[in-house]
Amino acid sequence: MTDDNGAQWAGESSELRAARARMVETQLVPRGIACPRVLAAMGEVPRHEFVDPRLVGEAYSDHALPIGHGVTISQPYMVALMTERAAIKPGDRVLEIGAGSGYQSAVLAALGAEVFAIERIDALVAPARARLDRLGYGAQVHLRVGDGSLGWPENAPYAAILVAAAAPQIPQALIDELAPGGRLVIPVGTDAQELRLICRRASGKPSLQADGEGSRGFSEESLLPVRFVPLIGQG
Ligand code: SAM
Repeated sequence: MTDDNGAQWAGESSELRAARARMVETQLVPRGIACPRVLAAMGEVPRHEFVDPRLVGEAYSDHALPIGHGVTISQPYMVALMTERAAIKPGDRVLEIGAGSGYQSAVLAALGAEVFAIERIDALVAPARARLDRLGYGAQVHLRVGDGSLGWPENAPYAAILVAAAAPQIPQALIDELAPGGRLVIPVGTDAQELRLICRRASGKPSLQADGEGSRGFSEESLLPVRFVPLIGQG
């Protein structure tokens, strides 16, 4: 990066820089993304570095793009929405399931999080690692191959968990690994999917079911209908 607001990267064209700023102004702000820190992170991270070189011209378009192996880098608005609803604070430990290209990890790192990211497709992990290192986000992102539906218990609990693939139901491991006060953002469903925000109360049993007194340790909110690739795992 070459300037204080973090929006200009060495060697990037003024067209790409302008396209990234336009993405924020025309795709995110009008749809209600309002957190200045999230908007700044989306304006900072060079999404064009996370897509196939042949698709660089589409990197700031309003849709998901293929990243090979039958999976996609999510639409910028979806990344911004999930990040905003996860309410990331500097220093938060964040679990990310479905790291793909590494783009969402970079956005979380730009917000000051310590990111623990899991990706099931081995071939995506080394390129994601290389991009994150090259762009200066690498020290904040721990990235490994694996089945994220089983969580990453060694580093739990997490202040936030973001899942970028749709689960038929919410994996129990992710519930177990959410810190008190933590936020889980996850697409749920198979054909019809919805994005859900699950917040663990500061006190209360770590179960989505009501206990004997009818109290729940979590609140749950449906955010919007979505279409994600499936979460393929055992959890
Ligand atoms: N966040 C990614 C990015 O910024 O490029 C996009 C992710 S893509 C929409 C969803 C990813 O979830 C795919 O890369 C897919 O391989 C991965 N995935 C699916 N099931 C998984 C699992 N059980 N554990 C880890 N990753 C999984």
